[in-house]
Amino acid sequence: MIYMDNSATTAIYPEVLDAMMPYLREEYGNPSSKYYTLASNSKLAVEEARQKVAYLLGCEHDEIVFTSGATESNNMIIKGVLDYYNKNNGSIVTSSVEHPSVLETCNYLQSKGISVTYLAVDNMGRVSLDDIILAIKKQPTLLSVIWGNNEVGSLNPIETIASDCDKNGILFHTDATQVVGKVEFQLSKIPGIRFLSLSGHKLHAPKGIGVAYIKKQTKEIYSKITPLLHGGGQENNYRSGTLAVHNIVGLGKAAEVAKLKQKNTVQHLLNLEKQLTILLKEKFHDKIKFNNDHSNKIPGILSIQFIGLNNELLIKKLAPYLAISTGSACSSSKPSHVLQEMGLPVSEIRQTLRISLSAINTTEDISFFNNL
Ligand code: PLP
Repeated sequence: MIYMDNSATTAIYPEVLDAMMPYLREEYGNPSSKYYTLASNSKLAVEEARQKVAYLLGCEHDEIVFTSGATESNNMIIKGVLDYYNKNNGSIVTSSVEHPSVLETCNYLQSKGISVTYLAVDNMGRVSLDDIILAIKKQPTLLSVIWGNNEVGSLNPIETIASDCDKNGILFHTDATQVVGKVEFQLSKIPGIRFLSLSGHKLHAPKGIGVAYIKKQTKEIYSKITPLLHGGGQENNYRSGTLAVHNIVGLGKAAEVAKLKQKNTVQHLLNLEKQLTILLKEKFHDKIKFNNDHSNKIPGILSIQFIGLNNELLIKKLAPYLAISTGSACSSSKPSHVLQEMGLPVSEIRQTLRISLSAINTTEDISFFNNL
């Protein structure tokens, strides 16, 4: 079976699994325990992983908070910022095409009296910079915009948004879950990003591990949040709970590999995407339509309409040979809110498939589409 649903999740790299295994077998110490080697070995492994993630993101190691995944990071940052900075009448600006872990968190806060503005997007799923400028003028407590969309791959102009927020003293968060390892950036060079979320299982690490990046507090910049989980005070008091050392080590290794291979991965994904696009166009002519453009997007994510076909039936038919999806794995039975917000009618959404590639895919995998 050929796997092309990498926006939903990715295979764990063998070297990631190898790095994790000792921490599931013999190295089972609690990194918060003291004085004996089992504990200090675990602590060392966690800190090495933190360094590797920080190197990938281009930030300081003590700006990395390990969480259970991007859902938790998004919840923690959005709820935490609103609680810390504005006890009574806070406000959030976000986009209408965020992942449910942002949208539902904002909906929840709205039900508690927080004012939320959902910015519209264009037909490629991007927010407009004019709308961002207008939103900033209203001085929201937090602005949160997804970096790269999980359904169509469109990239938002995050560096410009971050810089606009920075100039106007607005706290800015971005959900970078789909872009890490596929878009090169250095957080130290984008000071306007105060908070960022990512997830391990989108970059060949295990499920159940993620990161909340919280920019270090300086004299001018206050990037603090109220924790989501209270308890033993792990992770600099931001996220209590015994650390999942094996998962953290796995994420560290995956980050190391991602950094090392980033340029090759991007080129490989661009090549595969080109090969697939040409093949599909030659084979299906006007029977297919692309929902995304081919530049300014995450390489390897394609959202394609197969005109006149039902996406669910097509996926079921292909399932023994090919794993792809209709859109986001979280809401695959409902018509995609992302495509709706991009202005597609339900009839077009019902014939849309998402193909999402990873570094593991090969040109032979792409040739599968010759058999359709
Ligand atoms: N944000 C985006 C853009 C995603 O694609 C996903 C996963 O699908 C998440 C957040 C949630 O990540 P996790 O599965 O780690 O909770």
